[in-house]
Amino acid sequence: MKDLSLYIHIPFCKTICLYCNFVTFAHKNKKIPQYADAVIKELEFQSQKFGDRVIESVYFGGGTPSLIDPHYIELIFGTLRNRFRINPNAEVTIECNPESLDEKRIEKYRLAGITRISLGIQSFNKETLARVARPHDDKTAYKALDALAATGFENFGADFIMGLPYQTYGSFKREIEEILSYHPAHLSAYFLSYDTKRIDIFIKDSPDEDAQLQMYEFLTTRLKKEGYVHYEVSNFAKPGFESVHNLRYWRQKEYVGVGVSAHSYADGKVWENGCDFEAYLENPLAEGEKISIDGDLERMDLIMLNLRTFRGIDVKEYEKRFSDFDDLVEKAGPYLDSGQLAMTGGRLHATDKGFLILDRITKDLI
Ligand code: SF4
Repeated sequence: MKDLSLYIHIPFCKTICLYCNFVTFAHKNKKIPQYADAVIKELEFQSQKFGDRVIESVYFGGGTPSLIDPHYIELIFGTLRNRFRINPNAEVTIECNPESLDEKRIEKYRLAGITRISLGIQSFNKETLARVARPHDDKTAYKALDALAATGFENFGADFIMGLPYQTYGSFKREIEEILSYHPAHLSAYFLSYDTKRIDIFIKDSPDEDAQLQMYEFLTTRLKKEGYVHYEVSNFAKPGFESVHNLRYWRQKEYVGVGVSAHSYADGKVWENGCDFEAYLENPLAEGEKISIDGDLERMDLIMLNLRTFRGIDVKEYEKRFSDFDDLVEKAGPYLDSGQLAMTGGRLHATDKGFLILDRITKDLI
C-alpha cells in the first residue's frame, strides 16, 4: 500500500516579521472560519484521489497555526481522520509561536491527536525580537517553554535563526545553552536568508557571514556533545526524534499540501496552489499546473534533497536510476579528498565541514 504525507497551510500571523518570506497575513483573522471550510473542502477533494494511501505524517504549518482557535485544528484533523487512512503511529506536528501557546492549548492539541510541537523562538534577545518585528518577546518565549514543561509534552522542537540583528557569537552561545536547559527533543537553527524581501531594513545590524559560520560550528559541536544527531544541515534531534515529515521531503517521498500556496509532490508530478487568499476561498479546488519530475529534474532533486541529510545519497540506487554515475563520482572526488564529503555504508554524504558549504557542493555535483 502506498504512503503519503499531508501538509496543511494556516496563513495567519499576529504581525509579519521583517524576514518572513512565507505566504501569510496579519489582518485576515475574521476569515479564519471561511478558510477552515475551504481547507476541509480541499481535503475532501484530495481524499478522492489519495484516500487509499497510508498517511505517515501530518504537518500544520504556516503562518502561525497556534494563532487560530484549536477548534479549527480539531475540525480539519477530524476530516482527515474520516477521509484518509492514518497510520496509528503517524507523526502529527503543529507549528506554534510563543505568544499563542499556553498549557490549555497544549492539552487541547494533545487531545486532538497532535504528537509533536515545533516552537518558533528564533532568539531569546528582546531587542533582536523587536528589531525584526517578532510578535513575542523573551519573557513570552520562556513562558511557552514553561508551559511545555508543565504539561510534560516531550516531543517538541525549538527553532532559532543565525544572522539576526544584534546577535553575536557570544550571545548565540548563551541562547543555545538556555534552550538546552529545557531539553527540547529537536532543535533547528537556520541561516538568515539573504533573499528576504525586507532585509535592507535591518541587515546593517546583523552579524557577518564569518560570525554566522562560527555560530554554526559551535552549534554542531555543542549539540553533538549533548547527544543530538545532526541529521540535516539545519536540524538536530535526540535519537528517535528526527522529524518524520521533513525527512520524507528530503527523501523524495510523496506529499500533498492543502491550503493557500501549498506545494505537492505525488505520482511523479509537482504542483502548487495559488498565493491569492481570496481566490483560494472562492475555489479551493483549483490546483496549479502539474509539472513532471523525471529525467534531469528528478536527478537534480535527488542530489539537492538527499545531500541535505546525514544519510546522503544511496550510490547503488543512484547508479540504477541515472546514467551519469561516473560523472557524479568524479565530481565528488575533490570533496571526498578534503573531508567535506564522505562515503559511509554505500552512501555519499556531507560531513559537518561539508554542511558549511553545502550549496557549493550541491551545485558542483548537479
Ligand atoms: S511568525 Fe513565522 S510565518 Fe508569521 S510572519 Fe513571522 S516568520 Fe512569517
